[in-house]
Amino acid sequence: MTKIIKNDNIARLLEQLAEDAEVWAPRELAGTGTAIFERWQNGVAVDLEHITSISAKDVVLPRTEKLFDFNYAFGDPVPGENIEIVAAVTAPATVLFGARACDAKALTVLDALFDNPESESYNDPNYQARRRALTVITLACTTADAACFCSSFGEGPAGKAGSDLILYPLEGGYLAEAVTARGESILDAATRFFEESNAEPPQLAETATVEGLDGLQQQLPAIFKDLDFWNEITATCISCGFCSHGCPTCYCFNIHDEMSGDRKGERLRSWDACMFYVYTQEASGHNPRPTQAHRYRNRINHKFSYYPVNQGETLCTGCGRCIRGCPTNLDIREVLRAAKARAVETELMADGGKAETDK
Ligand code: SF4
Ligand code: SF4
Repeated sequence: MTKIIKNDNIARLLEQLAEDAEVWAPRELAGTGTAIFERWQNGVAVDLEHITSISAKDVVLPRTEKLFDFNYAFGDPVPGENIEIVAAVTAPATVLFGARACDAKALTVLDALFDNPESESYNDPNYQARRRALTVITLACTTADAACFCSSFGEGPAGKAGSDLILYPLEGGYLAEAVTARGESILDAATRFFEESNAEPPQLAETATVEGLDGLQQQLPAIFKDLDFWNEITATCISCGFCSHGCPTCYCFNIHDEMSGDRKGERLRSWDACMFYVYTQEASGHNPRPTQAHRYRNRINHKFSYYPVNQGETLCTGCGRCIRGCPTNLDIREVLRAAKARAVETELMADGGKAETDK
């Protein structure tokens, strides 16, 4: 026996959840077919049809947040000695409703970087507090658009990683499956909205697959210095940064201090993007990644080579947001296919054609 919730009860469920938590849910921007995640308000319709243009990472990594207040309270500044620091963690109980499997999986990727008690380095108190206060209710996908490729680089349209409760769309409602104890507790606390049912899960979406990329992780370094290739790939890129800001697994950030007086102020963290020129500009004025080609090369290598080598996992869940949102139609899947072909060609040339003739 499983449980279902009827469409009419979704708003009531959100209302109940909002009594004890901040609820974030997708909302369509008036008639545009574009959805965004935002803090849900009673009476606002939730959009469970369109995938949001920007991921849900705000709930754990806000676009701008205060990390702490500081005050050199006791005389001339001596770092680490006479400074008073007051942490500014805000982590209300939060429910993320209507995330997709690619969003939920991305949270587990971010966990490895910001909430990883097994490491000495990857622990961020602000992220940790928010993540531990977060419950994720995921919507399994029964439809996909041409940009989705979670079956190749993610967990698929009903992947459970990062989810507490999954809702499967049915005619007139949703089948509910608890994944964690938190998910169970939602079902237990909202029994009036969930009914016993013998309904079967629906047919899931079929998403595009990106085949033929075996070994790319090891091969990308072979074309690292091939700037002709990267220039060609990024000829239309305008460095807008959407691909980073929309991405659920991109986590570049900037930190700066806002002073209020000469001895005190607050330290802020904001989203940044490795596709921006100033991201790597040094104080001397030198920039080791001066062109779109250098920056996009880093983006691809980080996601599909450096990070997998260091962390054992690709930094992409196949959500397709960077494809849908790129104003110049750069498709990361085509880039990966082109990179693979170029790397194979480069390896063959380095081998003097030996690999080809040995076949
Ligand atoms: S979204 Fe497209 S144009 Fe904008 S930085 Fe990314 S690749 Fe370049
Ligand atoms: S790289 Fe593109 S497809 Fe992959 S997770 Fe980021 S936005 Fe989604």
